Order: sequence, then structure tokens, then C-alpha cells
Amino acid sequence: MDSCLGVEQDLDKATSKFNALNDHTNKVLEDIITQVEDLRKEISKQPPNSPLTQTQAMVLSDLAANVKQTVFQMSTEHRELHATVSRVGKSIDRHFIVDYASVAPKAESFCSDTNRPIMEQAIAQHLYREGLEEVGDVFVEEAGVGAVERTCAFAALQRCAAALAAGDPAPALHWAQRRSHQLLHSPLPFALHTVHTLKLAREQGVGAAIEYAREQFPAHAARHEKQLAATVCALAWLTPGAGPPPAHYHRLLDQRALGAEAAELFLREACALLRLAPLSPLAGAVMAGARVIPALHDIRAKMTHQHVAAAWADDELPLEVELGAEGGGYHSVFACPILRQQASDANPPMRLLCGHVISRDALHKLAMGVKLKCPYCPMEQSPSEARQIYFS
Ligand SMILES: [Zn+2]
Repeated sequence: MDSCLGVEQDLDKATSKFNALNDHTNKVLEDIITQVEDLRKEISKQPPNSPLTQTQAMVLSDLAANVKQTVFQMSTEHRELHATVSRVGKSIDRHFIVDYASVAPKAESFCSDTNRPIMEQAIAQHLYREGLEEVGDVFVEEAGVGAVERTCAFAALQRCAAALAAGDPAPALHWAQRRSHQLLHSPLPFALHTVHTLKLAREQGVGAAIEYAREQFPAHAARHEKQLAATVCALAWLTPGAGPPPAHYHRLLDQRALGAEAAELFLREACALLRLAPLSPLAGAVMAGARVIPALHDIRAKMTHQHVAAAWADDELPLEVELGAEGGGYHSVFACPILRQQASDANPPMRLLCGHVISRDALHKLAMGVKLKCPYCPMEQSPSEARQIYFS
């Protein structure tokens, strides 16, 4: 965080310098344009083909010299700005760790013959999922990616959410209406009707909005009494000539903020309903990576002893990554209650006949020939009756 603040300071300096130069340049240019225009008007007043008066010739040559001088000055000032911009780049280098090779020594494995197509598929899938079909098509064609599903349920949701954020709740409302029986306990329908009501008030007048509200809101009145009252009162500030609204109506009357809020709710509710992950596999991996890399880097710096370094497995992280609410949980993991080890492909979880689950290594250790006594219940069974469990 300190690193971000450090870079932000330098970035702020560069931005304010840039803005100051921009304002100054615009002003200087406007002045010169006015002077040129004035002179042109003055000259055009004279009869055609008549020579310039001595004063006019002097003013003209002065102005030409002035323009030349200003252009020179502007290009010098612009060149000086480069130093400030390059300082931001240096600040990024200074504040952030550039080389993470020690944490991810196998980064080149993304380029191996086996992994490269998987990476490319993940990228294409991400693009299609975000509703960027055209970009995805070009990528698939140029990279020669095979077998990627072009349409996915999430892309349709993404389009509804984007329209909602841009102020058009119609596609999202249509989607929600088709699933109204599944959304009985969701706050989504009410949120969408609210956005639509306020949009109607803006575009067609408060009368149309009230008519819509009368049709749609009664079904939600019991659950959203307070918000409903606030929405209806907010209409008063959308009538022509209404004064500035009180602070607690700002959220409802800020069209963009309300749209963005509703779009976020829409994606959350729709993903939960359709059992879709809110992030694409690629976005999820990038997010998890971004969260874990600083911690990994710290641990790596401290793990210099050979025995400790051996704990750094190739396919397993030495620490747990908290992905937060938006990260979701992607994989179920199983730790053997007997050996206290996380299950792996080589040592998968096995379900015993009695229903208890232990790892295969533990099963082999506990088995006495063809007999096995469950370590949790005394049920005796044959080890061959245990079944491997697969997590999807
Ligand atoms: Zn048992």
C-alpha cells in the first residue's frame, strides 16, 4: 500500500504539471489565434490587391516573430514535461519489486507445448466471457486457438449488467422477469424497478414514473418499505424547477452511481442463481496471484535454509490464500484425518464402506491383509471395498 501511495505522489505531481501546461498552452494559443484573426479582419477591410500599410506590415512581422517564439517556447516546455513523466516510471521501479522470478521459477512453463494451448484457451474464454466477442475472434484466429465456446451464459449477463451501468435497465429487467419465480427472495427485482422508475421520471416525466411505480411496486412494498418510500419521494426532485435535493437523496438521484450499484447486484444475484463463478478462471487466477505474490516473496526471502526450501513444493503453495468474497471457493480440498496431509493425485481420498473418508496412504497403513478396521467406527471391512472420491 505504501508503494502505491509513493507512486501516486509522483503521478499526482506529473498530472498537475501536465494540467497546468495544458491550461497555459491553450490560453497562449487562444491569444495568438485572436491576434491573427484581428489582423486578418483588418486587412480584409482594405480594397483587394492594395499593398499593406507600413504599420500593418510591421504588425504582421511582429506577429510572425511572436508565433515563432511561442512555438519554440511551447516545445521546450513540452520537452521538460518528459522528465516528470519518466520520473513516474522510475518511481514504479523504485517502489515495486520488478523481479518475481524467485517466487515463480517455473513461469516459463506457461510457454511449454502442453501449457501454451491451455493458457491461450483461458485467454479466449475470458474475452468471450466478458462479452468481447470481436476481440476474442481475432485472438482465436491469430493464435490458432482450438475449441473455445464462443457463447456463454456469463457473457449474456455481462451485457445486461453493462447496459444497466450505462443507464438502460431494460435487458436486465427482461432477464429478471423471465426468472421472477426464482427471484422471489432476491432484492434484485426491486432494485431494477427503482432504476427504471427514476429513468422514466427523467425521460418521460414524473407522471409516467408514478404510473409504472403503481404497477410494479405493490408486489415489493412489504419487503422494501423504507427504500420504496425514499424512491417515491425522490421523484419530487425530478419535477421541473425542483431545487437541489437533500443529501440523503443523492444516491438515488445519481444516475450513474445507482446504475453501477444495480449492475453489481445483478451480476451477484444472477451468478448465484445460475451457479456461475463471478470471475473467469483467468481473472480468478490473476486475482489470487496478485494477492499471494507479495506474501510469497517475503517468505521466499526468509527461506534460505535448504531443509526449509524443500517445503516449497512445485504444485502447492506454502500458505493459504484468502480470496475474499469476490474470489469464491474454487476447489474442495481434503486433508486426511489420520496422516494430517492434504490429499493429492498420488494419495487421493478414499471413502470406506462405513462412509468415513481417509487418504489412500492411511488406508494401506491401516489395512491388515484383507481386513481393515475403520479408525472412526469399529466397522470391519475389506480395503478393496473403499472407493476413491473425486472433487470437481
Ligand atoms: Zn467408519
